Amino acid sequence: MIHADLIVRDAAEAATLAAGPVPRVGPAMNDLARVPDAAIAVDGGLVVWVGPERRVSREVRLRAGGRALDAAGGTVVPGFVDAHTHVLFAGDRAAEIPLRVRGASYREIARRGGGLYSTVRATRAAGSRELLRTAADRLRRMAANGATVVEVKSGYALDHVGELRLLRLIPRLARATGLRLVPTFLGAHAVPPEFEGRADDYIDSLVRRTLPAVARGGLARFCDVFCEPGFFSVAQSERLLRAAARLGLGVKVHADEFVLSGGARLAARLGARSADHLLATPAADRGRLARAGVSAVLLPMTAFASTAARRSPGREMVDAGVPVALGTDCSPNTWVESMPLVLAGAVHGGRMTPAEALTAATVNAAHASGVGDAGTIEVGRPADLAVLPIRSADLVGYRFDVRPTLVLRQGKPVFTP
Ligand code: ZN
Repeated sequence: MIHADLIVRDAAEAATLAAGPVPRVGPAMNDLARVPDAAIAVDGGLVVWVGPERRVSREVRLRAGGRALDAAGGTVVPGFVDAHTHVLFAGDRAAEIPLRVRGASYREIARRGGGLYSTVRATRAAGSRELLRTAADRLRRMAANGATVVEVKSGYALDHVGELRLLRLIPRLARATGLRLVPTFLGAHAVPPEFEGRADDYIDSLVRRTLPAVARGGLARFCDVFCEPGFFSVAQSERLLRAAARLGLGVKVHADEFVLSGGARLAARLGARSADHLLATPAADRGRLARAGVSAVLLPMTAFASTAARRSPGREMVDAGVPVALGTDCSPNTWVESMPLVLAGAVHGGRMTPAEALTAATVNAAHASGVGDAGTIEVGRPADLAVLPIRSADLVGYRFDVRPTLVLRQGKPVFTP
């Protein structure tokens, strides 16, 4: 007999994602390891039993004071892993939407001191308490939408002290929200105004001073760079990422978002953990990512929000054998807090199947974020899961705005309606 302090009962289906290699590529992305008519038992925050409802009373005993939660015929999925966010910012950019809808590009708006630079000004000026409060509010809404692990990038301070301050807020945000957060250093999000026209000097300062401080303090798991014309060149990105790798950080690249920057090629050459965005990546470079085992982190809602008619290359990446992961890209540029909406974007915009999208948002996103024990519902692993009010995982991504009725992180409700 197995003892549990929590049992989730009466699910029409559990999509456990608990079978197959990690990350999953190609046809294996359609295998969700489903358990029909499922129950899940949790003890001490870990999954201790997964199986058919009819066996749970025989095989699992609820401890005194334990709780049984009713999934009410819904579908249980692993908590979503959001593999790419910029949630740590102040202010908003509502004022630039009228310009954007008339066709002004991200780069043009940034050059006029708007866009990213207006967020940098607001973030530098914001107190830590305000940053914590606003980011925690966003993260709680993300949890309400089913996310249990969220990657969080710095990148709106663009100076030594400010970037370190943002990274130091991330563990505090994790404690405040109960979510598992993966910190990424994105000091090279853009060339700061103080270094205008001197991107090389800025990269020098990051390599000599800020990166070593990040590594020394254990403040980040990954180093990321915005590799795009007008931001950082391939050579500058490579210099920064090689320095980061020497210090033991994993590396990620914002690659080929607006034009073919060579970022995906660089990610493949460096064996990066992920290349992100990839809207302008050609077939040859998809092959390079696949051969190098670099995850493609796709952000379909960002593709949707950009004024040019572009769609996220989900289908192309899956067919090329690239391990695909998903993220919200939540930022003041693309303010998305809902992973179910991202899944719908991956299906309807990225042409992925619902099962592929769910794999990309769970086990593959966990791999892309360097958290090996997340993204599946499996005995011995943290009980991070979401109950969705749908009869099968086939409806994930098909329906746009499915919201969970229950979200557990380490067996504790982070959200109940
Ligand atoms: Zn980004």
